[in-house]
Amino acid sequence: LKYKGFALIVGVTGIVGNSLAEILPLHDTPGGPWKVYGVARRPRPPWNADYPMEYIQCDIRDEEQTLTQLSNLQDLTHVFYVTWANCSNEQHNCEINGQMFKNVLNAVIPNCPNLQHICLQTGRNHYIGPFDDWGTLNGVQDAPFCEDLPRIENPNFYYTLEDILFKEVTKKEGLTWSVHRPGVIFGFSPCSMMNIVGSLCVYAAICRHEGEPLRFPGTRQAWESYHSASDADLIAEHHIWAAVDEYAKNEVFNISNGDVFKWKHFWKVLAEQFGVENGGLQEEGERRSLSDMMKDKGAVWDAIVTEKELLPTKLEEVGGWWFVDVVLGNEGMLDLMNKSKEHGFLGFRNSKSSFVSWIDKIKCSKIVPI
Ligand code: NDP
Repeated sequence: LKYKGFALIVGVTGIVGNSLAEILPLHDTPGGPWKVYGVARRPRPPWNADYPMEYIQCDIRDEEQTLTQLSNLQDLTHVFYVTWANCSNEQHNCEINGQMFKNVLNAVIPNCPNLQHICLQTGRNHYIGPFDDWGTLNGVQDAPFCEDLPRIENPNFYYTLEDILFKEVTKKEGLTWSVHRPGVIFGFSPCSMMNIVGSLCVYAAICRHEGEPLRFPGTRQAWESYHSASDADLIAEHHIWAAVDEYAKNEVFNISNGDVFKWKHFWKVLAEQFGVENGGLQEEGERRSLSDMMKDKGAVWDAIVTEKELLPTKLEEVGGWWFVDVVLGNEGMLDLMNKSKEHGFLGFRNSKSSFVSWIDKIKCSKIVPI
């Protein structure tokens, strides 16, 4: 048999889905050789057209479509669930995200006799609540976060997803699971709902085009406190480790780079990468959110795309301003990687190298100008 593992990546064009789709087919990836299937709603983008995988266009919100499209993948051994829906409130998030996950598991668990393991990605909001509650719930849990902290009271779609996972795996004997909780992710995808590096590159490119300094849109707390990030390739390696290693079965793990940084240092790096003046932290009264600064820049972005012969994108696809405003508006909160290390995962990243290398990749892929 040519393949040992058969992977379904749900959210294959997303920030971690893209890293999984790049890493799984490599010849030395643990558990391989892997056959890879990848799911997303939009047509296959040009930047992943060369990946050796079968691309499946499917909307997993649609129960029937999901059943039709996924129930015939009977060779699957592993599922990597790296997608979500961003609804207007958390109750709605719980319903919709829960339904999406159930639709996938209902199509796969009864129809794949060799299914062994399901990796579910959630995130650090497990400990502090959804974005809307940030600020009000900060301090509810005492950082640095470790995996066995009790859940907080408020609704959280991550809890819904975990509970569905725990219940559904009991339907097939021997089926194992793992949950992965990254913090803010540094990665590539122009199809991601939350890509901080990509969004900052677009902002910096717009500043350069307009001859404006690169102003930090966030708060002093965010500028001066310690933050940690999670590199998308590192998260993919963590998923693959959990998928194949006995010591990682049926466990929840944080996943972050293993170092800390300050935005006031990375802001200088960003300005240098784009050859713009570092505008730095703004005084309290002068500060404008990125969502506000970028609200009329659609035509400017279109002009940059044309002039620099970039891959066609719309500003609202590649500029996740609300997310940047949340991250740069709040003090950093750290997690611990002890549990992963104790279970045998020793992977790490240098966050500064990670930041610069994703900027390079985003430039080289013609998403932003060099
Ligand atoms: P992304 O937003 O980067 O990617 C989502 C992927 O899923 C895309 O491929 C998207 O493509 C696809 N998708 C979205 N909706 C559907 C649908 N209805 N049917 C089929 N495919 C769909 O995802 P992330 O990796 O960011 O998110 C995964 C988890 O990680 C989430 O729980 C998120 O909260 C968490 N997380 C993310 C962080 C980050 O910085 N990004 C930080 C910490 C946690 P298309 O739109 O074409 O369908």
